Amino acid sequence: MCGIIGAIAQRDVVEILLEGLRRLEYRGYDSAGLAVVDNQGHMIRLRRLGKVNKLIEAVNNQTLHGSIGIAHTRWATHGEPSEINAHPQISENIIVVHNGIIENYKLLRKQLINKGYDFFSETDTEVVAHLVHWEQMQGGTLCEVVKRVILQVQGSYSLVIMDKRDTSILIAARSNSPLVIGCGVGENFIASDLLALLPVTRRFIYLEEGDIAEVTRRDIIIINQNGQLVKRTEIESNVEYDASNKGTYRHYIKKEIYEQPTAIRNTLTGCLKQGKILLNELNSHAETILKKIDHIQIIACGTSYHAGMVSRYWFESLAKIPCDIEIASEFRYRKSIVRKNSLLITLSQSGETADTLASLRLAKKLNYLGYLSICNVQASSLVRESDWSLITKAGIEIGVASTKAFTTQLTILLILVVKIGCLHNNIPMEIEFEIIRALQSLPNSIEQILKKDHIFKKLAEDFSNKNHVLFLGRGNQYPIAMEGALKLKEISYIHAEAYAAGELKHGPLALIDADMPVIVIAPNNELLEKLKSNIEEVRARGASLYVFADQYAGFSNSDGMKIISLPHVDEITAPIFYTIPLQLLSYNVALIKGTDVDQPRNLAKSVTVE
Ligand code: GLU
Repeated sequence: MCGIIGAIAQRDVVEILLEGLRRLEYRGYDSAGLAVVDNQGHMIRLRRLGKVNKLIEAVNNQTLHGSIGIAHTRWATHGEPSEINAHPQISENIIVVHNGIIENYKLLRKQLINKGYDFFSETDTEVVAHLVHWEQMQGGTLCEVVKRVILQVQGSYSLVIMDKRDTSILIAARSNSPLVIGCGVGENFIASDLLALLPVTRRFIYLEEGDIAEVTRRDIIIINQNGQLVKRTEIESNVEYDASNKGTYRHYIKKEIYEQPTAIRNTLTGCLKQGKILLNELNSHAETILKKIDHIQIIACGTSYHAGMVSRYWFESLAKIPCDIEIASEFRYRKSIVRKNSLLITLSQSGETADTLASLRLAKKLNYLGYLSICNVQASSLVRESDWSLITKAGIEIGVASTKAFTTQLTILLILVVKIGCLHNNIPMEIEFEIIRALQSLPNSIEQILKKDHIFKKLAEDFSNKNHVLFLGRGNQYPIAMEGALKLKEISYIHAEAYAAGELKHGPLALIDADMPVIVIAPNNELLEKLKSNIEEVRARGASLYVFADQYAGFSNSDGMKIISLPHVDEITAPIFYTIPLQLLSYNVALIKGTDVDQPRNLAKSVTVE
């Protein structure tokens, strides 16, 4: 969601800003813009609706130079996606890029109009530009001015502010949205994500909540929310990321679907030693806490929420620990009751999901025994603010619709279930070994199914002209049905719903007709016979059924029912395995429909606004 990049250097920064925007594209956006100031103090701003490439074209048609500049990809929250609403927003000499929402912008806008300011955009961001301008007229350095502005704005933001009359400084401010400073030699940079800055530096400083930074070519001065000068730790990153590297694949999402066997193997390698679970991240204090817990509360959004839902079945059936899960945007505004001896687990691919982060911060004021996060990004806010973190080794995920992050989250969750179950003496050694063996053989089973993409390509033809699809699953496959429906919605824009198969007769059966294909997930487990009855109920009402079934589940193609026969896998890892064919189906439907598969309309990768 929204990308910010700022640069102050002795060299020309235009190319650095554009490459930064390209690298931030994966986060999802609807317009892009940049502003640079040259040595004579001339500012040029260019903005375009649509892709970064359009902005690059516009830049190439101009002579644009400057050793200081800021750039932005916008994911509209206030005001439609348009050139006028794109950032940077300007007030005379003040130039601003912003990620987030200024909640009291209406009131501020009114006050500023009364002071004589004209507004050109519908954004909440323009308020900040005018407010900085107004406060600057009241006196003080740019940093002092921004400090006064911050006291007046409510909401969430990361801001980078430039004054075209003073090309020696950029100001960055952070509240509830990520911002990182890239440290160079005689040059410094700011971005919402370190991936944007990897071509220019490997040294980074993460701003913390409420920080304001004065960034010049030589110095980085940080003031915390109490106005005190602070030193934040500098980290060295060894992350590799080449924004243009799709390998031999046409889309990142396909590459990421195919990377899943490796991602799961890598995740397992980090958690296993000599066939036993070893979670180095959980120190002895963590183990003491995990032994004491009587309850687990999971908080997540979107795909991560589905991973959490699957793990609830595992936590209760294997580790015998009561577990609840809630969507972060609900949890954070609800007066929930903390169960006795409860552990809070947050799940997020990016570790910057605004609602999940806010939930963690809220929960930290409550009486949980500990705070554990599962993330794919080591340097993320969620990891930094949790007591302990388990990092999935999915590698950078670029496709907006999550694939490998989901299956590696499930992998690590299952490991955690076993770990906690063992600490509570609820999982005997033979079950532990059985689960580890099942996990170790999973990548091979996934490889087998990935070789059968042609099946899903063909199958996709049946779905591409449909407007609605129903997904059914039971038990721990119900969340997988939900994830399958979400993938189809996200990348092929087909309306899809998931139901627990037993719930059909309580309403959704009314929807069934020949135009609504029904996908059923049917592994060979204890619920199979029940599921078969549900299938008959749907079939009797004229639905076209597509059953993703275990090869030994005893299904055969018949009228109105196509069987997608899948290799047998262990029951415990079946939710992870059945995710893959559903991903392949959605991808192939999206290909036929010609959607923007890697950056679906209206969506963002790391949802940094609430
Ligand atoms: N609220 C601002 C806008 O709508 C910033 C959105 C963003 O984070 O990209 O322009």
